Amino acid sequence: MVLNKIGKGIGKAGSKISGFQPILIEWKDATPNDIVWRYPDEVIPWGSTVVVKEWERAVFYRDGKVYGVLGPGRHVLDTQNVPFLQGLVEGFYGESIFRAVIIFVNINRLQGKFGGKSQTVELIPVNFYGVYYYRVADPALFVNKVVGPDSRFTREELDEYIRSYFLNNLMAFISQSSIRDLYMKAAEASKRAAMVLRKPFDEIGLMLEDVQFEGIDVPPEYRERMFWLMQGTSAAYLVQQETARKFAEAIEKTQAGGAAFGAGVVAIPWALQPPPPQAQQQPATQAPAAAAAGAATTAPQQGYVARCPYCGQAPVPQGARFCPFCGKQVKWCPNGHIAPAEANFCPVCGSKLV
Ligand SMILES: [Zn+2]
Ligand SMILES: [Zn+2]
Repeated sequence: MVLNKIGKGIGKAGSKISGFQPILIEWKDATPNDIVWRYPDEVIPWGSTVVVKEWERAVFYRDGKVYGVLGPGRHVLDTQNVPFLQGLVEGFYGESIFRAVIIFVNINRLQGKFGGKSQTVELIPVNFYGVYYYRVADPALFVNKVVGPDSRFTREELDEYIRSYFLNNLMAFISQSSIRDLYMKAAEASKRAAMVLRKPFDEIGLMLEDVQFEGIDVPPEYRERMFWLMQGTSAAYLVQQETARKFAEAIEKTQAGGAAFGAGVVAIPWALQPPPPQAQQQPATQAPAAAAAGAATTAPQQGYVARCPYCGQAPVPQGARFCPFCGKQVKWCPNGHIAPAEANFCPVCGSKLV
């Protein structure tokens, strides 16, 4: 801008630039879904009038800082009417103008849509989607944290930013949630998500008013695991059983002549590894079986370590009626797999339990 050059070139000596007539500044073509609108000119003649509607706030921003916010009304811009403008007075732009970005912020309720994938606390993948409602509660904070730093002024940029912010926080929430709560009690889960996400929204000047899950889906291959969890079987137990089963299947394939196991496959699932140190003082009868699993050529049955479905510790001696670690009652399928006392079928092989 020419003015800039003159201003910087002649400094305070040139402060008598005139010819800037006061103007009317208002957000004319706002639609209900616009979040902000930036007045396009940063050079503002003193004495201009800013019109702020009931559902708007006008934020004065410059050089990474919010100077002040105007509420509803007609405001004539001078330092008497609007004291915070003192901070924007600078000599070398001349006496008739100052420089600021005026950002109008819509404080009406806004809607965002979300959708994504995450894992529950039981490591069950879920697809979810829904809507959330929010409003700008602190326009200055919102401009400072979201709008200003990266000059996000378009609806698309802001929608995108807020949606991914929402989604990141929601995925953290889901990873701490049980599939039982998400799937069986979606309405409650929505309420809890709204409560948990309120704080991070506060931190960027937004009030999160509502979250509504419209769909939560579990891929078909995980429905069985979900069924077991609904029955009250512990998540750690199911993860262990499934890992063990997959590993056993992989070994079978290899033994059948496949080359599935390349040199790179050295990881042994934790379910097949020797029990953790605190379990070592248990009768040693299970230890050889666990160690043998390390050779990766034994039948899956030999590699099986009975892990308590309640506390996750191992090994529970074959046939034991109670877990030696937590004392809960357990039972056994005809193939020697451990199961929770209330289970009707073996989670590993599906045998009927009595
Ligand atoms: Zn136990
Ligand atoms: Zn079984």
